[in-house]
Amino acid sequence: MDSQTLMMLSEKYLANTYARYPVLLVKGKGTRVWDLEGEEYLDFVSGLAVCNLGHCHPKVVRAIQDQAEKLIHVSNFYYIEPQIQLASLLCKHSFADKVFFCNSGAEANEGAIKLARKYAKEKSGGNRYEIITMEQSFHGRTLATLTATAQEKFHKGYEPLMPGFKYVPFNDIQAVRNAIDPKTCAVMLEPIQGEGGVNCPSEGYLKALREICDEKKLLLIFDEIQVGMGRTGKLFAYEHDGIEPDLLTLAKSLAGGVPIGALLTKKEIADSFRPGDHASTFGGNPLATAAGVAAFTTLLEEGMLENCQKMGDYFLSQLEAIQKKFPFAKEVRGKGLILGIELNIDGSSIVKEMLRKKILINCTMGKVLRFLPALIVTREEIDRVIKALEEVFRGIT
Ligand SMILES: *Cc1c(COP(=O)(O)O)cnc(C)c1O
Repeated sequence: MDSQTLMMLSEKYLANTYARYPVLLVKGKGTRVWDLEGEEYLDFVSGLAVCNLGHCHPKVVRAIQDQAEKLIHVSNFYYIEPQIQLASLLCKHSFADKVFFCNSGAEANEGAIKLARKYAKEKSGGNRYEIITMEQSFHGRTLATLTATAQEKFHKGYEPLMPGFKYVPFNDIQAVRNAIDPKTCAVMLEPIQGEGGVNCPSEGYLKALREICDEKKLLLIFDEIQVGMGRTGKLFAYEHDGIEPDLLTLAKSLAGGVPIGALLTKKEIADSFRPGDHASTFGGNPLATAAGVAAFTTLLEEGMLENCQKMGDYFLSQLEAIQKKFPFAKEVRGKGLILGIELNIDGSSIVKEMLRKKILINCTMGKVLRFLPALIVTREEIDRVIKALEEVFRGIT
């Protein structure tokens, strides 16, 4: 079937939840993807920070193949070898002692919300359940995580929302202090906001949040679903600030492209979950966790964090150079290889222009171009994107 026919069938049979670009992708390798007609694209979206190792990394492909031949699924009634391996790896390389596996980011955040409530009720004796989240946040699309997401545009039509969330502006410590009351049990945020426009914490903000949470006995929940697993140049974004969260959620790139989610925490907190309290049929299944083990070891062994830091710095400086040349380009933000450039104008037409040049980029919040290349990206590839972007920008002024 040709791509026109397939796109028609897509409109006919798939729920109308995505505004898609007219491209049908069939193959990927490293930083490149190909459409049905064989046209090659340079991918600076990476499945929205899922394909951090690049598309179809051979070690991940091999792990999936090997595992698929051995065992694809059993129930969590039984011990699963790769699940144990991935949990050990995560704990060995993070602040955490224990991991709960699930299948997506939203599900990981659901788990964090449930655990925070349960822990607080057990420990405080009182009725503590409220979670403070940040404006422009994004935590997922289930009813609880949608409510945690402090952006009205995602709420419309789904009311009544879940009780138990309070919103404050990002980067405003006093607002957090003011929002805390006897019902508060946790503060939840992305250490860098992705969907919200690549918003970075100001100096000392995360540390101050840690101090408030310690002082008021609240749990600090970091949603690193987008920025974890090397995206910022460190394995976890919290490492940049010399602090540790109490709960950490991961998903996106954790299994090299296979669906997975994870909730990481300290033993004392994790133990508020007892057998039967929380579960997921596919959570930590052999296939996803085998892919996760391969993805994790590859990320650590192949110098990807170093490349991310180096290429991130280079890309940032190149974007800043462009920003200075065009008055409609307001600000460049980000860390490592999650970078954004905020415009005064609509960014979606720029994404389309870049697509015409066979480069995939993303736009969020209408006006922020977001760049999420694989961590193996090269200087030449960044140069190509910068050159194309400059050409598109020049066409606007
Ligand atoms: C993508 C994302 C989610 C939601 O993950 P899903 O797998 O789509 O449910 C939650 N939080 C952040 C920060 C994300 O980037």
